[in-house]
Amino acid sequence: MLSQGKSMPRVNGAGSLAGARVKKKFDLIVIGGGSGGLAHAQRAAEHGADVAVIENGPLGGTCVNLGCVPKKVMWYSASHAHSARLAADYGFDLTVNGHDWSALKQRRDAYVARLNDIYQKNLDKRNIELIRGTGHFVNKNSIRVESDDYRADNILIATGGRPIMPRIHGAEMGISSDGFFELPDRPERVVLVGSGYIAVELSGIFNALGSDTTVLVRKDGVLRSFDQMLRDEQHKAMQRDGIQLETGVVPHALERTSAGLKLIAEDGREFGAFDSIVWAVGRAPNTEHLQLEAAGVQADGYGFVPVDDYQATNVDNISALGDVTGREALTPVAIAAGRRLADRLYGGMADRHLEYRFIPTVVFAHPPIGTVGKTEAEARAEFGDDVRVYESRFTPMLYALGKHKEPSAMKLVTIGPEEKIVGCHVVGDGADEMMQGFAVAIRMGATKKDFDDTVAIHPTSAEEFVTMR
Ligand code: FAD
Ligand code: NDP
Repeated sequence: MLSQGKSMPRVNGAGSLAGARVKKKFDLIVIGGGSGGLAHAQRAAEHGADVAVIENGPLGGTCVNLGCVPKKVMWYSASHAHSARLAADYGFDLTVNGHDWSALKQRRDAYVARLNDIYQKNLDKRNIELIRGTGHFVNKNSIRVESDDYRADNILIATGGRPIMPRIHGAEMGISSDGFFELPDRPERVVLVGSGYIAVELSGIFNALGSDTTVLVRKDGVLRSFDQMLRDEQHKAMQRDGIQLETGVVPHALERTSAGLKLIAEDGREFGAFDSIVWAVGRAPNTEHLQLEAAGVQADGYGFVPVDDYQATNVDNISALGDVTGREALTPVAIAAGRRLADRLYGGMADRHLEYRFIPTVVFAHPPIGTVGKTEAEARAEFGDDVRVYESRFTPMLYALGKHKEPSAMKLVTIGPEEKIVGCHVVGDGADEMMQGFAVAIRMGATKKDFDDTVAIHPTSAEEFVTMR
């Protein structure tokens, strides 16, 4: 049995096993073999639990197959395009004869397939049974996959999410981020609709690799939940790079014309023609096939499964984690929640759980963004005049030798007389690798003085964080 969660009201799920053939009984069944599900299953098995994972797609879930991993491969490719621009400044006589998207895709797919195999071996090593197919609840202890039922004391919902397609005329002519990874060739003219991580990241990739790239956002700019400094600098960087960024565009319809796809906005403006339209307007939880009601599991109006601080749902033996819960939709969050939950349920660590605070994150744009903690606006709303902010803007030494410049910007948000750091933000080259270490310090309660007292590493961009005045 799961230990009781702190805040969710608990019920015992209803449902019956009438007419079902119970194939096997486990200590734990995990529905979803993605980042969070696999992390939980493996840690539980290491603690001695008899575990099954149900998965209806390739092992590794979104991150490995349609997210972080193939995206980062594409980001590296785009980064090479950026480096090539600087090659002459550094003495190279370089001629770039184009970019072979389809060859890159083949190598990327092969890499992902290798990872799928590794995930399978990781399950085999721990004697975790992989059940192939789509699982749904029969009752709070039973999951059906096709015509077989599997029983378990504990069940984890880790079914992740999928891209949302807008409900407008012609939307199906566009693709989602899933479709991005299927593109056999690079579209010449592409538009991305959305303002979040995916619109920013994928537009940077298309643009660097040579596509004529447009981004349409419906409000005033990209990355609205991020610190304003990051938003402003990213906006400028995208425009500097040649991405056409249009604000206040609410999509109304897509049309196919002889010149290509056109997007018509609610205010009548027309955009295009394009060869490809990528919707990047958010993700929905994979709960529609789970028959949650058979187990009495509550979902919210969007289909997300709410959980308390201990990943507990409202049903006593059923937990949920990762994207399906509607919390921070990041791979390391799903993994950390999964491992900690297994440590608590099977490892005797009674209070082990993920603290959802100071979660660092990177937007793999060009240049990247790294951020942890509160934005300046959030801190001011909470702490008013107790907030003091330090900022630095500079051009990294990388750009010292040539005409092309790509500025960096950093911000520390502090509170109180001791100037405890509650927010740390950077946009610029190296931001992606910079933030992890700072996240440790900030989680430990670092103050501005701690940063000031830390000796800089020179010459780097990161040293600006410990030399700000
Ligand atoms: P998932 O990894 O989605 O796994 C859920 C699994 O459940 C899937 O394999 C699915 O097939 C399976 N499933 C669903 N329903 C059923 C069912 N009924 N029966 C059986 N199996 C089922 N995060 C980062 O931290 N860094 C990044 O750089 C990053 N980049 C991203 C880029 C893109 C384009 C996208 C879309 C996401 C990215 N993310 C990134 C987010 C990250 O991929 C997710 O947060 C993470 O994968 C969530 O893990 P999860 O275990 O909750 O779900
Ligand atoms: P996000 O939620 O980040 O952004 C989607 C944005 O699109 C919304 O915030 C909204 O912004 C806008 N939008 C929503 N509906 C519409 C619409 N109908 N028309 C136009 N615009 C619309 O979603 P993403 O799909 O970009 O990414 C999903 C999640 O995956 C992320 O939140 C992140 O957690 C994860 N991810 C993480 C990555 C990383 O770690 N590097 C990379 C990629 C994804 P607004 O209200 O401003 O219009």
